[in-house]
Amino acid sequence: MKNLVILGGGYGGMRILQRLLPNDLPEDVTITLIDRVPYHCLKTEYYALAAGTISDQHVRVSFPEHPRLSLKYAEITEIQLEKQQVCLQNGETVHYDELIIGLGCEDKYHNVPGAKEFTYSIQSIEKARDTYQRLNNLPAGSTVGIVGAGLSGVELASELNESRSDLNIKLFDRSNYILSAFPERLSIYVENWFDTNSVEIINNANITRVEEGVLYNHDEPISVDAVVWTAGIQANKLVRELPIEKDNMGRAVITPRHHLPEYENVFILGDCASLPHAPSAQLAEGQAEQIVEVMIKRWKGEEPPESFPTIKLKGILGSLGKKHGFGMIGERSITGRVARILKSGILWVYKYHNG
Ligand SMILES: Cc1cc2nc3c(=O)[nH]c(=O)nc-3n(C[C@H](O)[C@H](O)[C@H](O)COP(=O)(O)OP(=O)(O)OC[C@H]3O[C@@H](n4cnc5c(N)ncnc54)[C@H](O)[C@@H]3O)c2cc1C
Repeated sequence: MKNLVILGGGYGGMRILQRLLPNDLPEDVTITLIDRVPYHCLKTEYYALAAGTISDQHVRVSFPEHPRLSLKYAEITEIQLEKQQVCLQNGETVHYDELIIGLGCEDKYHNVPGAKEFTYSIQSIEKARDTYQRLNNLPAGSTVGIVGAGLSGVELASELNESRSDLNIKLFDRSNYILSAFPERLSIYVENWFDTNSVEIINNANITRVEEGVLYNHDEPISVDAVVWTAGIQANKLVRELPIEKDNMGRAVITPRHHLPEYENVFILGDCASLPHAPSAQLAEGQAEQIVEVMIKRWKGEEPPESFPTIKLKGILGSLGKKHGFGMIGERSITGRVARILKSGILWVYKYHNG
C-alpha cells in the first residue's frame, strides 16, 4: 500500500478528501490526514468567533469517514523531506509516499517590537478562542485597537462593534483608505459604515511598537485595553523552516503542477504555496482540484498536464456585522444587505456540502 499523507485539514486539505473519496482513490493507496484539531475549521468565520457573535460549534465541520482514510490528531513539529517522513510532537514519525502540505498561515509582525507578545490573533482556532475571551471579558468602555484594515480586520471591527457596542474600537491602517486591495467605492462605503457606527478609523498609521496596554502609532503612545493583529500573514512555520526556495511571505515556490521542484511527490497547498493571487480559501480549493488531477493521472500511469489554466476566483465577500456587507463578484462591486445575504448563503451551502 502507498500512503498519501495530507498535513492540515483546512479548506485545501478538505477539498482533496472530497475529490478523492469515495470513488477516485486507487485500491492500493491509503490516506493519512494529520491535523492538531479533530474537525475541519471554518477559518473565514474566526472574526465572528472572536467577537462572540457565533458559537465554537458553528465553525466546525466533521472530517469524512472512509475505510482507507486514517485521521491523526496531533501537532506536527517537523517535515523531513530527505527521509520522507513527518515528525509529531508525541514522538511518532509518519512515513509518506506522497505528501500534501496544507498547513495554512500565521501572523506576520513585520519586526514591530512587542507585536507578537502583546497582541491577540485570529489566525488559528486556538488563538481566536483566546481573543474571544479577552475581548468579551473587557469591562464596559474599554478600548480595543485592531491593527490592519484588510478583510479580516474590517470584519472583526464591525462584528465586535455589533457584539459590544460599549467598546471603543480603533482600526489602524497603513493606507489612505481601508481595504486597499478593493476598489475605492467599496472602501468609501465601508468607511462610511464605520463612521455611522462609531468605529474610529486611523488611516496612514504606522504601528512602531506595542507594549502591555499601549500601542505606538508613529511612536505616539495610545492607551488600549487589548490589541488584535490583522496586519499581515506568512506561511506556516513548518514550511518557512524547510530548506527550499520561498517567497517573501515564506511560502514555498512550486512548479505549475503544484509540487516542489526537487520533490515530485511533495505538493504545497493553499496559504503555504507561492501563487500569483492573494491567499484565500477559494484559491486553496481551486489548487486542490488541480493537485488531485495530477495525482490521479500519475496513479493511472499517465502524464499529468504540464500546466493548468489560472485558477478562477469567483469574487470575495465581506461582512459588516450581521446585516450589511460588501464585496466583488467578478468585476462587479456590491454593497449592503444583498452582499451580506450572499455571504451567509455561501457559508450555508459550504456547510451543507461538507457536513
Ligand atoms: C477572519 C478571516 C476571514 C477570511 N475570509 C475569507 C473569505 O471570505 N474568503 C476566502 O476565500 N478566504 C478568506 N480568508 C482566508 C482563508 O481562511 C485562508 O486563505 C484559508 O483558510 C487557507 O486554507 P488552507 O487550506 O491553506 O489552510 P487552513 O484553512 O488555515 O488550514 C490549515 C490547517 O492546518 C492545521 N495545522 C496548522 N499547523 C499545524 C501543526 N503544526 N500541526 C497540526 N495541524 C496544523 C490547522 O489546524 C488547520 O486545520 C479569511 C481568513 C480570515 C482569518
